[in-house]
Amino acid sequence: MNNDISPFISTFNAKVKEAEIFLSIARDSTLQLGAIEILEAFRESIAAEMATAIENKSEDYANLLLGCTCVTTALVAELRMWLLLKENKPDAAWEELVTAQMATVDAVRAHSGFEHLAEHNRKLEAIERLVFPPQVFISSGMIVGKQECSICGAEYGDCDHLVRKPYMGQFCYIIAKDLSLDHVAIVEHPADKRCRVQHFDVEGGVRNRMTWKVEPKSDA
Ligand SMILES: [Zn+2]
Repeated sequence: MNNDISPFISTFNAKVKEAEIFLSIARDSTLQLGAIEILEAFRESIAAEMATAIENKSEDYANLLLGCTCVTTALVAELRMWLLLKENKPDAAWEELVTAQMATVDAVRAHSGFEHLAEHNRKLEAIERLVFPPQVFISSGMIVGKQECSICGAEYGDCDHLVRKPYMGQFCYIIAKDLSLDHVAIVEHPADKRCRVQHFDVEGGVRNRMTWKVEPKSDA
């Protein structure tokens, strides 16, 4: 981060340091819940600071604050992951792990001040390998009729905005319209690790790939 850190960013850094204490399965669940509450409350302060930054047209600061929002999301998700694992809910914990991973990558994209988080992402990848069993990922290929830019609403490619880049505190993404499913495939490196095989048929029901428990077949 740059040398002249604003008081707001100093406060943010202190909150992060405090929350990081609880990023372990061994920490007390009640204290972890408290840490989540503090972060969620601070998320609102970031939104207010962001509104001011946008009003002042301070794009660099708005993007820095976007990164702060991503870091907050990542910390909350990681804390929830540990809590859910202790509650015997590994499928839900997996969702939080993936949220934490994606938000960490987003923070690095939001502003150069978060480049150091690449290392934190390696920690999350290690958790994926060491805590969870191997997953089978699915990817769906879609045919897109129309692609709209999320920043200006123009047909994507006609404007100068680039997907995954930050603009005044917002990421550019493509709004896909008129979607139709082309194919579904098993892949090794999916775009979204939440798309995975969760159950498979066995005698007497379905086996949960995460817990290995046989569950009754639902009618849905
Ligand atoms: Zn655009």
